[in-house]
Amino acid sequence: MARLLVRPHLRRMSNDPADRLARLIAASRRVVVFTGAGISTESGIPDFRSPGGVWSRMQPITFQEFTRDPAKRAEAWRRAFSGAAGWTGRRPNAGHQAVARLVQAGKVSAVITQNVDNLHQDSGIPPEKVIELHGNASYAACLDCGQRFELEDLRAPFEANGAPPVCADCGGLIKTATIAFGQAMPEGPMARAREETLAADLMLVLGSSLAVYPAAGFPLLAKEAGAELAIVNREPTPQDACAGLVLHEEIGLLMTAVVTRLYPAPQT
Ligand SMILES: [Zn+2]
Repeated sequence: MARLLVRPHLRRMSNDPADRLARLIAASRRVVVFTGAGISTESGIPDFRSPGGVWSRMQPITFQEFTRDPAKRAEAWRRAFSGAAGWTGRRPNAGHQAVARLVQAGKVSAVITQNVDNLHQDSGIPPEKVIELHGNASYAACLDCGQRFELEDLRAPFEANGAPPVCADCGGLIKTATIAFGQAMPEGPMARAREETLAADLMLVLGSSLAVYPAAGFPLLAKEAGAELAIVNREPTPQDACAGLVLHEEIGLLMTAVVTRLYPAPQT
């Protein structure tokens, strides 16, 4: 009789989403988390491709326009300093914090992100564990020599004379460190994302519609290489059919519950 009440049996039958994801993570040796805009919407950053998002309010400036047309370049800088994209001043939310906890516990080896908002680093994840496929909007870099520049240092000269900044070292154009439409994917992060993907036994997608390539190729690559694939996203994605677990849940609540199950607070 008592055997009918054995807890592992009941747990196997659980349909609770947090239980199911927590069990999958617990059974994995090396998890790679792949994040998209959906993890940051709970921080108040609109998905840039959704209604109300950046690209419904303004035309993107392509990399070619930026490099060839000084007026477009100046417009790009006006946008960068106006906070028009909505990511300045935002703080990490419960979803970011839960991922940081998994990294801290040694469960997650890397976070591959499509986001440019720096919120994974702001949540306490060491920068070397965050792989940014689309760059970072919180600083700038010279397109020729790669020298890093802080936005706040560039703001006053730009606002004084309206001239887009150029590199003091080499004279090259300075651009926010994001990957613009038409710009080549960053080689180093792409290579690292591939390595991490192939080394993982679980790829956990959080808040990506998996529609933008080549970034969206990494979850598929993980699956092809034999890893388990779990997708948490508000809307269905084209890769749901490939995934062993698909949850249409709010990320912050779900991931907080998952982390609480995996790492219960000590009893007091
Ligand atoms: Zn330079």
